[in-house]
Amino acid sequence: SCTFCPTVVRSAVWCECGVPNTCCQQGSCRVPCGRLTCFMNSILQCLSNTQSLRDYCLHNSHRRDLNNNSRTNTALMEEFAKLIQTMWTSSSSEAVSPSEFKTQIQRYAPRFVGYNQQDAQEFLRFLLDGLHNEVNRVTVRPRGTVEDFDHLPDEEKGKKMWSKYLEREDSKIVDLFVGQLKSSLTCSHCGFCSTVFDPFWDLSLPIAKKGYGEVSLMDCMRLFTKEDVLDGDEKPTCYRCKARRRCTKKFTIQKFPKILVLHLKRFSEARRTSKLSTFVNFPMKDLDLREFASENSINAVYNLYAVSNHSGTTMGGHYTAYCRNPSSGEWYTFNDSR
Ligand SMILES: [Zn+2]
Repeated sequence: SCTFCPTVVRSAVWCECGVPNTCCQQGSCRVPCGRLTCFMNSILQCLSNTQSLRDYCLHNSHRRDLNNNSRTNTALMEEFAKLIQTMWTSSSSEAVSPSEFKTQIQRYAPRFVGYNQQDAQEFLRFLLDGLHNEVNRVTVRPRGTVEDFDHLPDEEKGKKMWSKYLEREDSKIVDLFVGQLKSSLTCSHCGFCSTVFDPFWDLSLPIAKKGYGEVSLMDCMRLFTKEDVLDGDEKPTCYRCKARRRCTKKFTIQKFPKILVLHLKRFSEARRTSKLSTFVNFPMKDLDLREFASENSINAVYNLYAVSNHSGTTMGGHYTAYCRNPSSGEWYTFNDSR
C-alpha cells in the first residue's frame, strides 16, 4: 500500500488511468485514459467529504426522494450515490471506477467532458443543480404568480420569498447548500430603500487588494458586502421618485445556508486572461460571518472541511483538494497528477 496516501480507495478515484491498486500519489500512473478530470475529482472529493450529503447517499435516503413518475431520468443522482457508496465502503485494495458517473455528467453537461481547462466552481454548480433536479420534492411546480410583498417589513418579505422559492425548488441539496441574499438599493434623493431577495448556491467573492502581502477571507467578504454607489449610466430608477437616481447598493445575508460555498474570484472577468495570486488567509474553525447578516443571525459561524484549489496559470493549471474526513477528522490531500 501507499506510503504517501493513507486512503488508497479515495485516491484511486483520482487515478486517471483507472489501474486498480495504484495510488496516484506514488507517481506510478501517468497515462490519462479518460477518467474524471482534475476539476471533477477536486469537487467530487469535496462533496464526498460533506458529511450530510455523504450520509444521504450511504443511507440510501436519496431513493426516497427520487421521483420516477415526473422525471424521466434520475441516473445522475443514482450514479453519484453509487460512487459515494463505493468510495466509502470498498476495501482499500479496490479502485473505484467513476465511469458511469462520468457518463451521466456527459449526458447532463457535455461541455464538462474532455481535457479543457474548466472551472471547478462552475462544475460544482452544474453538479449540484443536476442532483437537486433529480431529488426535488416538488413534483408539480405551481404556476408563476406575481405577488407583491413590497408592503411587508423586510424580514417577512424575505421569508415569503424563501417559501416561494421552496414551492418550486425543495430538496436535500437545497436544505444543505442554498442561502438567501438580500440586496438593498437606497435612493440618495428621497432615501427610499427597495429590497430584493435572491437564493444563492455560493458566494463569489472578489479578492480584496491591499498594498502588499496577504489578505483575509473576511477582507474579501467585506469587499463583497461593501456599499456600492450606482451613478452615471448605472443609475437605477427609484420606485418612489419615479426617476433615475444615484443610489447605493448593498448585500447582506438574509439566510445562511448550512453549508456555505465561498468562491474566490481569482480569474479575471474577461474570461481567464489573468489570475490573481494574492494569498487569502482563512481560519479553519469559527469563521464568524454574523456581521454580514441582514438581521441578527445565530447560525453564521462556519468550520472548514473542504477546499478546492487551482494551481498554475490561466493557460495551464491543475485542481487539487484538501478535505477533512468526516469520520476520522483527519485532513487529506487529493491530487491526481503525481
Ligand atoms: Zn427616490
